[in-house]
Amino acid sequence: MEITIIGGGLAGVEAAHQITRMGGRAVLYEMRPHVSTPAHQGDLLAELVCSNSLKSLDLQNAHGLLKEELRRLGSLIIGAADETAIPGGKALVVDRVRFAQRLTESIVSNPGIRLKREEVRRIPEGFVIVASGPLTSEHLAGKLTSLTGAENLSFFDAISPVVDAASIDYDKAFYASRYIKDGAGDYLNCPLTKEEYDRFHEALISAERVDLREFEKTSYFEGCLPVEVLAERGKKTLAFGPMKPVGLEDPRDGRRPYAVLQLRKENASGSMLNLVGFQTKMKYPEQERVFRMIPALKNAVFLRHGSIHRNTYINAPVCLTETLQLKTEPRVFFAGQITGVEGYVESTAMGLIAGISAFMAAAGTNFHPPGPSTCVGALVRYLTTENKNFQPMNINFGLIEGYSKKYKEAAVATALSEIENWKKEMLDSGKRDS
Ligand SMILES: Cc1cc2nc3c(=O)[nH]c(=O)nc-3n(C[C@H](O)[C@H](O)[C@H](O)COP(=O)(O)OP(=O)(O)OC[C@H]3O[C@@H](n4cnc5c(N)ncnc54)[C@H](O)[C@@H]3O)c2cc1C
Repeated sequence: MEITIIGGGLAGVEAAHQITRMGGRAVLYEMRPHVSTPAHQGDLLAELVCSNSLKSLDLQNAHGLLKEELRRLGSLIIGAADETAIPGGKALVVDRVRFAQRLTESIVSNPGIRLKREEVRRIPEGFVIVASGPLTSEHLAGKLTSLTGAENLSFFDAISPVVDAASIDYDKAFYASRYIKDGAGDYLNCPLTKEEYDRFHEALISAERVDLREFEKTSYFEGCLPVEVLAERGKKTLAFGPMKPVGLEDPRDGRRPYAVLQLRKENASGSMLNLVGFQTKMKYPEQERVFRMIPALKNAVFLRHGSIHRNTYINAPVCLTETLQLKTEPRVFFAGQITGVEGYVESTAMGLIAGISAFMAAAGTNFHPPGPSTCVGALVRYLTTENKNFQPMNINFGLIEGYSKKYKEAAVATALSEIENWKKEMLDSGKRDS
């Protein structure tokens, strides 16, 4: 049985490789060079569209740990990154052309893979993996809309930062839901006095920003403005908008603060908190500097930075099972950034899982992903756990089950040992050749 993969990016290439390692066959469709995306430059597979860094190599960093898990699982992408690495300090930085060339050669020379340079405009028959990425072509996006339901396919991110709940100063914050006098309150409110608000506002409007690319300057942008752009519209715009204090009383003095930042749980355990309404295009270090001016966030650890960019992704908690299959049409799998993960390595991880999962489904074998104390498994769990405010997510320790900063080394050891066990159980005992 041949599995069809749509998109020869990081996820599609990884999925194709995993399928053939298991003994299967794949046909990989890539529309470039006939049709391109607004960000890709050439015709090589697995092109890195922006930075040439795959982030930290340090195992005590979630990005480093995710890469090590993938390395142990035989990821083609991470293998090519290691082989084409250039000096980058503690980060895995690659020669982007050699990296993409090496991966293109691997696919072209793989007898189990047929590469077709063609735009896919409808979902093909049989087992299919959709790995068409954040810049999925319009024709295909139209078909995906009918498959998932228009309300479950998004075309851009407007992401607010997420902070580690353990890094908040709780003496400078209070739980309350707007207008609800009694009860615990779903929001953690971080109050500011007028003087603190004025200083924060000044810093916000003068902070350095990331420029929007030409193709990102579309009308959606007006619909979901970055907090710094809102702040530019007037000194009080935020205090009457996302930072409005109405219906909130600080229980410590019974008074309404001048302004508040509201934090909302990002995961079920509450270890990660989202800065509500604070989508931003500020540069990452600037986000940390400016948002730490809010007293309760003085020592905040940022697990995810805010961003706004074009991104096609599905509402995975509604649409996908933990095997990355569409609930309504199980022959269709999703891989890469379109599942709702964010980043090169996260997309690769969801390519690896979708490839193995699709192969096993085609072979009639049961599949389950690694557990949530691994980075790979934590990403799958994030994608498939009910979440009314689902937004794309990069890997971070806040997602990992049982993680505590105090026992970081133990968490890393557990993740790697679970990955080894999963590999033995799921892969080595099957048809894999390595
Ligand atoms: C502008 C931009 C900048 C980014 N910068 C970074 C960054 O610096 N660091 C980072 O970690 N992440 C970054 N990302 C996120 C990054 O795109 C993803 O992390 C990663 O490339 C996604 O991998 P993927 O395989 O899911 O998609 P892609 O790598 O985009 O691959 C999808 C492939 O599918 C092809 N395709 C699309 N539609 C069709 C179709 N209908 N038929 C056939 N082929 C099709 C495309 O040509 C493409 O080759 C950026 C994203 C964008 C949009």
